Amino acid sequence: MITMDILFACSELYPLIKTGGLGDVAYNLPLALHRQGHEVRIVLPAYRRILDDLSYLKAVGQLATTIQGYDVSLLKTNLKNTDIPVYLVHCPALFDRPGGPYGETNDHNWEDNAQRFGLFCRIVTLIGTDRAGLSWQPDIVHCNDWHTGLVPLLLKVYKSRPQCVFTIHNLAYQGLFSESDFAALKLPEVVNGVRLWDFRGLEFYRQMSFIKAGIVFAGAVTTVSQGYAREVLTTQFGCGLEGLLKATGRRFSGIVNGIDIKLWDPGNDRFIETLYGISSLHRKTFNKLAVQTEFHLGDNNERLLIGMVSRLTEQKGIDLILEALPLIQQQDIDFVLLGSGDRQFEQALQEAARRYPGRVSVRIGYDERVAHLIVAGADALLIPSRYEPCGLTQMYAQRYGTVPVAHGVGGLADTIIDIPPFSEDIADATGVLFWEYSCSALLEALQRLEFVYGNLLLWRDLQRAGMRQDFSWDHSAQAYSDLYQALLPESM
Ligand code: ADP
Repeated sequence: MITMDILFACSELYPLIKTGGLGDVAYNLPLALHRQGHEVRIVLPAYRRILDDLSYLKAVGQLATTIQGYDVSLLKTNLKNTDIPVYLVHCPALFDRPGGPYGETNDHNWEDNAQRFGLFCRIVTLIGTDRAGLSWQPDIVHCNDWHTGLVPLLLKVYKSRPQCVFTIHNLAYQGLFSESDFAALKLPEVVNGVRLWDFRGLEFYRQMSFIKAGIVFAGAVTTVSQGYAREVLTTQFGCGLEGLLKATGRRFSGIVNGIDIKLWDPGNDRFIETLYGISSLHRKTFNKLAVQTEFHLGDNNERLLIGMVSRLTEQKGIDLILEALPLIQQQDIDFVLLGSGDRQFEQALQEAARRYPGRVSVRIGYDERVAHLIVAGADALLIPSRYEPCGLTQMYAQRYGTVPVAHGVGGLADTIIDIPPFSEDIADATGVLFWEYSCSALLEALQRLEFVYGNLLLWRDLQRAGMRQDFSWDHSAQAYSDLYQALLPESM
């Protein structure tokens, strides 16, 4: 196998800074590529939270003293527990501020995000073309989401340049800014024969779109499951970009994410009460009890305990949960949720927990330990997303013998094998899918779940089939590696 030098550009990186699945991917994919023998380096902005948390950061490279009027330098650390270099783009005026990577809070965006990520893209391009004084030239620059969208465009300006892959983790986040933001970025008027302020370029209904730059100019465009790759070609899921994505043709494909099977391992998980495995599933009960205690529910082991760990946004189907909860709590089901996000959802969920004490319990916040506890202790994990590019929690759940109940979209449908309705022949099924986004479809799925839960032998078959699935990153890394190789000249 050919080994390559790969620069991985992203706006989040576990465990330094993370708001969702992108942070997990940015940690695990480079690690899996490194295991395959590739030389991978990562680059992301030096946010204050990272500067505060890391005690030793080395200044590296040599950038011009000011770029676009900003003082910028490069710092270096390593990916946690590895020797994989992580470059941090240090620009105090743009990145050294309180809060998250995109705004003060998760539902706020900084006014100058076009400038912030525009500058980040320029620095990634300098590193990618060996113009940052690092004496290193990658073969591939792998860009992720809109924050890196200008990189494929900026790379086109250079004759000698690496190949570029652009991965869409969620098409709904497009990096849209005003025409004056576009002007302030001082991009060339025409790149590769494409006029940038035009619908064939970056213009999207009179706004500038970072994600379009990535889609138009990258050598290959990917998204994080094959199901989502098909769905985004339709008006229902395409967020207005379905036409452009269709025109991208064979440059566009889906590669499903993996999960960190070391971090998410019921046989070796420092966050959970009792370790267990496929042949000691009875021990999972102790984790159920731990969740019931933590969330002040009764200690009824018979009653089905459904958990959920999620950002609380429109996408994640929280409205469906709120509609279904009064009916769910009338059945023999308890419900626990850990999440944070939109204020109105947080409040409505807390209100539901107050209405059904001992049956519905909600923890608002981001908490790694409690996330592991729920995944290990719940009987089933609910993922009712309206759309889901890939999703990670359904894969964690299966690894823990916790049965996923999910809306059959995108990566959820790709990674869960549905049980046949009310049959004792469940074959290789690993979870329950509902195909219509409605409260009645969700409730019907729960009835199918209860049917299997009522029969311990069947239930164990379902749990074990999930636990036998291989969701490791090695498969995905191989698919990316093949894609990179296909982009490189034959002589490599
Ligand atoms: P998305 O990236 O759309 O948020 P994913 O399922 O791909 O959805 O990834 C979500 C990741 O964030 C998972 O690792 C999940 O465990 C984690 N997560 C989400 N909400 C919380 C929370 N409140 N506390 C701890 N972890 C969370």
